[in-house]
Amino acid sequence: MTLGQTGGAEYDARIKRAEQLSSPHSAATEFLEFYDHVASFQKLIRANIAAAHQVEPPNAPPADLRSELDLTVILPHFRGYLSVIENHAPPALAESARQTALLGSNSWIASLEAYWQHAGRYDQQVGAFAQFLPRAFLQPCAEFRAALMPRAPQVSTPRLCPLCGSRPLLGVLRPEGDGGKRFLLCSFCQQEWEFRRILCPTCGEEAEDKLPVYVGEDSPHIRVEACDTCKFYLRTIDLTKDGNAIPLVDDLAAIPHTLWANEQGYSRLQPNLLGT
Ligand SMILES: [Zn+2]
Ligand SMILES: [Zn+2]
Repeated sequence: MTLGQTGGAEYDARIKRAEQLSSPHSAATEFLEFYDHVASFQKLIRANIAAAHQVEPPNAPPADLRSELDLTVILPHFRGYLSVIENHAPPALAESARQTALLGSNSWIASLEAYWQHAGRYDQQVGAFAQFLPRAFLQPCAEFRAALMPRAPQVSTPRLCPLCGSRPLLGVLRPEGDGGKRFLLCSFCQQEWEFRRILCPTCGEEAEDKLPVYVGEDSPHIRVEACDTCKFYLRTIDLTKDGNAIPLVDDLAAIPHTLWANEQGYSRLQPNLLGT
């Protein structure tokens, strides 16, 4: 199977999961329906990148995930992308897409390039809304490039993504033996790396009594893994409790967990795509 063929299936699985989650999670339905449109567009972008890669494969894998982005393949799709957002996003975001469409391609390029350099590293105060347009558009590029990168064996427990240096978006518990092994999922390139279970990925706290975990009754596969030292929390999707969950998508639907964590005074380190 080639790289060009693998990406489409991942997007199909995300779209299917968003449809599954839409009805019972009524608070999230509007977001999930919008995400369906976003993910369908991302699938198209991904197919374009993969096709261009097959026609003209690079001589060597990229040395750095953030090395310069060749926008020639995807930039022609940016206007179409903006209309998808304008037609399907919640009102404020739709308006932002409409305004962006009025700007020229130089401005689009500047915004995409800035996001590519800063995503997940120096964007902590930016928030989901301001980042949305470049983030959703470039997500397939970051994922595609990450899949091409050589991986060094992991010897430590890095708090930042070993491939691109970004902060984690989520934790993921994957079944192993009788329990679950924790991974962190990168907020930029979407790759996972292994991470100790009793350790705060934000400040490095390792005292178990400072690291409370909250699990809601209605969705036991979603955990709020908080830290009383730094007051940040990591949302973790527990695949030992629900093997059908798709972390990126289940995270978007977990709106009650966000409200709960905020009420308790915990903040999230990196917002998800829709700020839910
Ligand atoms: Zn990464
Ligand atoms: Zn902490």
